[in-house]
Amino acid sequence: MDFVTGLRCRECSRTYPAEALHVCDFCFGPLEVAYDYEAIARVISPETIAAGPQTIWRYAPLLPVADAAPIDLGTGCTPLVRADRLAAELGLGELWIKNDTANPTGSFKDRVVSVALTKARQLGFKVAACASTGNLANSVAAHAARAGMTSVVFIPHDLETAKIVTTAVYGGHLVAVEGTYDDVNRLCAELTSEHPSWAFVNVNVRTYYAEGSKTLAFEVAEQLGWQAPDHVVVPIASGSQLTKIRKGFAELHTVGLLKEEPHVRVSGAQAAGCSPVATAFAEGTDAIRPVKPNTVAKSLAIGNPADGWYALQAIRESGGSCESVTDEEIIAGIKLLARTEGIFAETAGGVTIATLAKLAAQGVVRSDERVVAYVTGHGLKTVEALAPTSGPTATIAPTLEAFAAAVDITTELGSPR
Ligand SMILES: *Cc1c(COP(=O)(O)O)cnc(C)c1O
Ligand SMILES: [Zn+2]
Repeated sequence: MDFVTGLRCRECSRTYPAEALHVCDFCFGPLEVAYDYEAIARVISPETIAAGPQTIWRYAPLLPVADAAPIDLGTGCTPLVRADRLAAELGLGELWIKNDTANPTGSFKDRVVSVALTKARQLGFKVAACASTGNLANSVAAHAARAGMTSVVFIPHDLETAKIVTTAVYGGHLVAVEGTYDDVNRLCAELTSEHPSWAFVNVNVRTYYAEGSKTLAFEVAEQLGWQAPDHVVVPIASGSQLTKIRKGFAELHTVGLLKEEPHVRVSGAQAAGCSPVATAFAEGTDAIRPVKPNTVAKSLAIGNPADGWYALQAIRESGGSCESVTDEEIIAGIKLLARTEGIFAETAGGVTIATLAKLAAQGVVRSDERVVAYVTGHGLKTVEALAPTSGPTATIAPTLEAFAAAVDITTELGSPR
């Protein structure tokens, strides 16, 4: 049994049954899942969660679908790593990395897709479709394969090779569209009316999909011993993940898992080549002006973010900030995280770390705060971005002399970094 009471419009609060609906018929506002929190509070506790599976499904009462055998590749319970060496470089105190590169298809998207497709299957859908900047494509194709569903996945034609190969391998239909993500997304909105029997994870079942991101808050709180952090740094594409991380911490308090009301400052991270939310934040406006993306962080390249306005409100209400970083800073961020903590992130992770560095330098992220930075995708997906500036220290003949002439590590040993 699930604890969903229905869907509710985020704008006018009208309610709807828990079906494949995503916008309000009256005001076109987005719909959100509504739960019976009192009933959840009665069944959930640190002990029941600890006794659950080592996946996002340990938080099932707070997810929008109950299924004894969800469509699951083993998503979630990713490492929360104390990052002292990175903190020292940035002048921070207690810093943690939520390492979501460790998910089955290498990104946080497995969280949202596992939830969306489990719900879609329950609603009777046999086809799983999506518009994707890459990671969603990987994840939908993999989960559809696992469930025996047919997948139809749409991507911009200029994605990284790794993201194309790691989607195609699962054997579904992969369609490369000549255009940007926003063009792909528009096409998918049209296809949703054309094929009402297909579950488009980020269109007609988006309401359920989005809920999966709450597990990024649930896990962090559990891993911190049922405490909330003071400040989180979250990358923004559509803005959904950021708003749901905030909602996740609030829900834990509502159902009694966090004793004190959390006051988590939520800061957003964008690439300068696609920064509609950071720009609106800097200008102090409510209007998010769509942009044409041009950034190495392709997984975040959504020029017209569906939840951008909600992300902006969440950032402002929480006392967070929003910054953007250049492609050079993104690459430097990837290398900084790898060099200090041994974690290889994709370009979206570089955006998070570079933004964290910027906010730390500005004094916005402070050394007296417990900080969590969300690193949401694996570096092997975007090797192209690193290849021009990453290679062997030296290429040598197979002789002792050649090695001695090429490599000298004595200075490093003298002053360990
Ligand atoms: C999709 C994605 C995001 C952002 O997700 P939104 O919910 O659309 O803001 C962040 N990081 C990675 C690696 C992604 O693939
Ligand atoms: Zn409405």
